Amino acid sequence: MRLDKFVLKSTRLTKTEVVTQICDGNVSVNGVVETKVNCQVHEDNKIEHNGALLVTRPFRYLLMHKQTHTLSSNLDGHYPSLLSSLNIADKDELHIVGRLDADTTGLVLITDDGRWSFNITRPQSHCPKVYRVTLAKPICDEAVTKIQQGILLQGETKPTLAAKINIINDYEVKLTITEGRYHQIKRMFFAVGNRVNKLHREQIGQVVLDIPTGEWRLLTHAEVMSFI
Ligand code: URA
Repeated sequence: MRLDKFVLKSTRLTKTEVVTQICDGNVSVNGVVETKVNCQVHEDNKIEHNGALLVTRPFRYLLMHKQTHTLSSNLDGHYPSLLSSLNIADKDELHIVGRLDADTTGLVLITDDGRWSFNITRPQSHCPKVYRVTLAKPICDEAVTKIQQGILLQGETKPTLAAKINIINDYEVKLTITEGRYHQIKRMFFAVGNRVNKLHREQIGQVVLDIPTGEWRLLTHAEVMSFI
């Protein structure tokens, strides 16, 4: 972790105050004054501010049930950020793991642990995400086959990875994808001549959505560890 991030996480200082304190030589790492804000430090290092030992607060891991017409970003835009309804301290330290469209509902992971979220979102992780998809037209066998095999989406050079599709009824399917391209599911169904009317994420990896719309809870230790 960067030194400025460590100091920010372990004190009540603002970002600007942290930079000033480090540059002024008030922070030391293992007994040596360190003035580079981007110096890499480890939680095991002895980091002091004006002689006082700093201890970081533990990382936080949450899941939230995203409502429709909310944004998966830290800032409000055309719609409010889904973090705006999160009643928790120091919200600005948290970030949302991956993105859902404003009209997509369901499971969203939230944390302040950048390494953990990168484990989930980096393309090589192939982390499975399960969605319930409501379609404008009945699903046909040909579409199912194409989606299972992978589809070359408009403007892209590589087909989508093989996806798992379970038919619930003519207009609803459960789809598992292991990547996260821009508007991926909407574009996949568009490519097979259909349209997504509703999209709801039920599961990421082993974490299953189990709380009502708009609510949140902390992840269990096992859930956190399942991504490591
Ligand atoms: N695919 C989409 O098209 N939208 C989402 O929000 C998530 C996956």
